Amino acid sequence: MKVYTIGGFSEVGKNMCAVEIEDEIVIFDMGLYLPKLLNREEEGDTRELSTNELIKIGVLPDDTFLEENSHKVKAIVISHAHLDHVGAAPYLAAKYDCPIIGTPYTIEILKTMVRDNEVRLKNKYIALTSNDLYKISDNIKLEFVNMTHSTVQVVLCALHSDEGIFVYANDFKFDNNPGIGKAPNYKKLEELGKKGVKVAVIDALNSKEEKRTPSEKIAKELLKDVMYGVNAVNKVILVTTFSSHIPRLKSIIEFGKHLNRNIVFLGRSLHKYVSAAQKLGIVDFKRDIELIGYSNSVKKKLSMIEKNRDKYIIVCTGNQGEPGSILSRLSKNELPFGFKDGDIVIFSCRTIPTPETIANRELLERKLKQKKARIFKDIHVSGHLAREDHRDFINMMKPEHIIPAHGDIEKLTGLSELATEMGYKFNKTIHVMQDGSVLEVK
Ligand SMILES: [Zn+2]
Repeated sequence: MKVYTIGGFSEVGKNMCAVEIEDEIVIFDMGLYLPKLLNREEEGDTRELSTNELIKIGVLPDDTFLEENSHKVKAIVISHAHLDHVGAAPYLAAKYDCPIIGTPYTIEILKTMVRDNEVRLKNKYIALTSNDLYKISDNIKLEFVNMTHSTVQVVLCALHSDEGIFVYANDFKFDNNPGIGKAPNYKKLEELGKKGVKVAVIDALNSKEEKRTPSEKIAKELLKDVMYGVNAVNKVILVTTFSSHIPRLKSIIEFGKHLNRNIVFLGRSLHKYVSAAQKLGIVDFKRDIELIGYSNSVKKKLSMIEKNRDKYIIVCTGNQGEPGSILSRLSKNELPFGFKDGDIVIFSCRTIPTPETIANRELLERKLKQKKARIFKDIHVSGHLAREDHRDFINMMKPEHIIPAHGDIEKLTGLSELATEMGYKFNKTIHVMQDGSVLEVK
């Protein structure tokens, strides 16, 4: 069994890895490193870049070293609908003559992205429900195990073969009250552990945090406390969160209705992720919100809100300070709505720890403060497991080999320290790898 670490092992973003088993390769995730792309657009560079140029500037994972083996690739498996896991598929998937497999929601988001990017993919889409088994080839079967994270229909992927089980466990937490969907399938995880897991690639993002990641139920309470507790008389309430965080959006709607305000969702990515969830029947927000994706309608709505500030809750894009998002444009007076002293801006998120994002957020907050808006930050719990969850996960799965993923060396080292403490041997059974490396396991 050979594991190729392609992206997301030297940075937080552009996740991608591949496994070779008896001359057949399965790819897991094809993610974007988003900040680089957004900042390039912000600098006015609207030039169409080729896939290779995007790889060179670090927006896409560098899969060129896989190219000579591209004929061996039998499937591309996408773990969930976040851009740092699926966003590169519209650019890279065409290189491989194989199907793309994901849960229905992930596939729906991918289809929207392919349409928006105006690309054509010949790959067949296969929507696989969690806890299903799928035969990729005579030797390899894929199993999706239901997990919880910060969007919907997230799975742990297990590959079954004669060489043992390979587990791709990137982006999850143990949430017994996820708001939408079921708790993780612990029974299945234990079953896999008993059968024997050869290699597990594990989300190490928060592995230095010595705690258990709290449930979405806690985030809901934090949000409720702010939204119900703050003095919002004659003030606008604006909430920004990850557009794909459907459970969080559901909570915002619940509280907005209780406050008797009209709830307006503004921005293209909110439109994309919420429309897909509605189309698949995961949520039904239609009667409760206005969902506005496109510029002219956004402007019209904002002028209306400006005149009735205390009648609305604005939910908009821009939680990471993305240039071009609704909140960034509001902060720069580019839209027909002005903040007034005491208006409320709730960041129901955390800042993604990349240098570009941290800088973008600082700039946004400075501008909002100049306008005298009140800022409520970190009204959020993470979607990623923390160290004590890692310990439980490793005890359940008992993988022979661990490869930490989802971060730079510092983040990967957190999981490596824990694994060593639990009896794993550095470079023998716990492998801290960088982008562009290969590990062969006998
Ligand atoms: Zn994710």
